[in-house]
Formats: sequence, C-alpha cells, structure tokens
Amino acid sequence: TKGAAMVTAVASRVQAQRKQIDKVLASFQLTREQLLGVRDKMRAELEYGLKKQTHALATVKMLPTYVYGMPDGTEKGKFLALDLGGTNFRVLLVKIRRRSVRMYNKIFAIPLEIMQGTGEELFDHIVQCIADFLDYMGLKGAQLPLGFTFSFPCRQTCIDKGTLVGWTKGFKATDCEGEDVVDMLRDAIKRRNEFDLDIVAIVNDTVGTMMTCGYEDPRCEIGLIAGTGSNVCYMEDMRNIELVDGDEGRMCINTEWGGFGDNGCIDDIRTKYDKEVDEGSLNAGKQRYEKMTSGMYLGEIVRRILIDLTRQGLLFRGQISERLRTRGIFETRFLSQIESDRLALLQVRRILQQLGLDSTCEDSIVVKEVCGAVSRRAAQMCGAGMAAIVEKRREDQGLQHFKVTVGVDGTLYKLHPHFSRILQETVKELAPQCDVTFMLSEDGSGKGAALITAVAKRLQQPQKD
Ligand code: BGC
Ligand code: MG
Repeated sequence: TKGAAMVTAVASRVQAQRKQIDKVLASFQLTREQLLGVRDKMRAELEYGLKKQTHALATVKMLPTYVYGMPDGTEKGKFLALDLGGTNFRVLLVKIRRRSVRMYNKIFAIPLEIMQGTGEELFDHIVQCIADFLDYMGLKGAQLPLGFTFSFPCRQTCIDKGTLVGWTKGFKATDCEGEDVVDMLRDAIKRRNEFDLDIVAIVNDTVGTMMTCGYEDPRCEIGLIAGTGSNVCYMEDMRNIELVDGDEGRMCINTEWGGFGDNGCIDDIRTKYDKEVDEGSLNAGKQRYEKMTSGMYLGEIVRRILIDLTRQGLLFRGQISERLRTRGIFETRFLSQIESDRLALLQVRRILQQLGLDSTCEDSIVVKEVCGAVSRRAAQMCGAGMAAIVEKRREDQGLQHFKVTVGVDGTLYKLHPHFSRILQETVKELAPQCDVTFMLSEDGSGKGAALITAVAKRLQQPQKD
C-alpha cells in the first residue's frame, strides 16, 4: 500500500506538471474569434497606411514602390543583382533572353560586426563583395545595370531612390536610417574607384518575388515573404494610393506588415514570451507582428518557453544549460527538423543534443509540442493577415469571388513541414470568397530584381536618347 501511495503521488505530480505545460501551450492557441480579430485589425491598418491623413501614424506603412506592372516577356539583357536582408547576402548575374532566365550567384558572409557597425563599413563591404564577384565571373570591366534587392522598409519617390525607414531583423548599421541607400551604395562604389555600375532599381524582396511569379502567372499580384522576416506586397489601384498623384492604373505597395501591432492593437494575444523576445531584440517595440510570425524570432520564442518550463522544473531535470541561455540557438532549420513528422523522437533528442541540450524522451515530446504551438500560431497569424489583403482586393473590385495567385518565398515557408499548409488552411477559412493559389518563387529576390531592372531600363531609354 505504501508502494501504491507512492505511485499515486507520482501520477498526480505528473498530472500537475502536464497541466502547467498545457497552460503554456494554450496561450499560443488562437480561437477563431481571435484570428478574425487579427484579420479585421490588419484590414483597418492597411487602410490607414494608404490614407494621407492617417499615413504618418500608421504602423503598416504601405510604401509605394513605383513598380507599375509586370514584365511582359520582352525583357532582355545582362544584369547584376544584389540581395541583402534575407538569410544570405548574395551577388548575382542574371541573363534574360526570350523568357528564359539564367542566373549565377555567389553567397557572401556579412560578419556581425559589419551588420552592426557603421553604414560606410557595411556598404564598403558590399562593394568589396561585388568586386570579388565581378572578378570571379571574369566581368571586371563590364558596366552592367544593377538591381538592388534591399529587404528593409524604404520610402521611395521613384524606382531608384529609397530612404531607409528603419532597420529590421539582425541589422543595425549606424548612419543609414533616413538616408538614401542607393546613394550610399553609389558613394561606396566611388570610394573604391575601381568600376562603375548603373544602379537602376531598388526593390523589396516581396516585390521581386511577386514579379518572378508574375512572369509566369498573370494572376500573381501579391508577393509574400515568410522567412527571416515577414512581409507582403500587392498591386493596388492608384486611386486608393493617396500618397501618389494619379488615379489611373495600379502600383505595387510594399505593406511592411511586420510593423502591425506596434500600436498595441494585438497585445491581447501576445504572451509574456513574445514580450521577452521583443525586449531582447535590436528593435524593441517594433515589428511586433513580424516577431510572432517569422523565422528570426520563432526559435527565440521557443527558447524562452523552454527556459520558463525548465525553471518550473518541467523540463531538462530543472537544469538550465549554458546553451539554453544563448540567444539564437534555435534557427529555422532546427525548428523545421524537430517538427518533421518523419523524425523519430530519438532523432529529436539528437538534434537537441547538437544544441547542447540533454533531454529525456519526455523532454523531447514537450519540446516538439512547444515548437508546434509556436509555429502553428505563426502560420495562422500570417494567414489572417493574408486574408485581410485578399478580401480587400476582392471588395475593391466589387467581386463576389476573387481568384488570385500569391508568389511566395522565404525559409520558413520553404523548409518548415507545416507552416505552408496551416497558412493556406487559415486563408481559406478566413477569406472564403477568395480562391488563393500559393506559388513558390524560385529565387524571387534575385530574378525579380533583374526583371524590374530590365523594365525600368526599357522605360528609361526614350528619355535618354
Ligand atoms: C522587412 C521587409 C522585408 C521582410 C522580409 C522585414 O523585416 O522590413 O522589408 O520584406 O523582412 O525579408
Ligand atoms: Mg530573400
């Protein structure tokens, strides 16, 4: 009977612990009402951003891109492209000829001290990489048009000017915010005094992604990045864009929806872990929606939860390892591996081991559940945001039914085993009158920048002659 009492005691302790874990997981489960709330608030913020009167204070900035339409297939030529702000920094050579695109690219590292050093150092480094690439390709003397994919919020007044509104993700170089980054790149090229490049366009990665898919599917008028960061662009009617003169035709709007919630409007669904991640980030208080939905932060949310559960004695035998205290250990690829259904728990334990975390079998189950709760919420919130966009476009056009294609790129979308499915289910659920096809963009940032450069170059020609 003493043994039986002990078994009961252990059983009830296990039950109590399970309750504590479930409570944490539950704070990441959103009800249908909460998701509808996200959709409707996003919709309201989209409108604020477009209107002259409310634009200055809007958290979703709705930035005009001066991209008016899709490539038409007549584009041709050789272009250089830069891709800065995603998982990798790359320099590319893109050759476009009769609808076929060939690309050569090289990945370069950007050391942390340069990402967070001075602006001049950052741009000198970028130009150094361009020089290496030209050398490598045997193109040293060539004077090619360049498209600059710069995946940060920029205020534009034309296709080749972009003032950085504020750094996001892991960047924090000084003396760039409020500056025209195209000028900064031109100055760095001049400083080096080795080659000349014609910088034709500055492009957000979402826009490049939309363009790349639009090249193949004319229904594509939205671009989504679910990667290190999160953002959407879409084709908007000029008459709705109060910041730009003219009522005819359409222009692509870079929504910068990552800033959604910066006025506190989704604080009711943010958990204490979200707040910790925000406070520990380079841009506290900013990009709150992005911090709940993108690859750079999901692992951090997971880590904060694991620390909390360990503190409560619910994981890792109550021992918080040095590794667990280290920021950024859970990259998107780890989350994706841990959540893969094909992976046996033993393999989950092996991944945790690689991260320096000694886990029991029970631990690995809990870790997997935590990852699932965090990524599921991310996909749902992203879907709720997308539902707001497609519903807006449906209503704007007075349609009962709206069929549209979204070009997508980003490591979270591409690598995670469940993110894309949950995102699509959520859009279906929250925008039932829209028929949304997601189309994976093969290298949207590079190809798209080249296509936009090609179009801009063509439009530029008559003025020059
Ligand atoms: C940036 C966006 C970008 C997105 C995806 C965000 O942090 O503000 O401009 O499109 O990340 O890369
Ligand atoms: Mg990218």
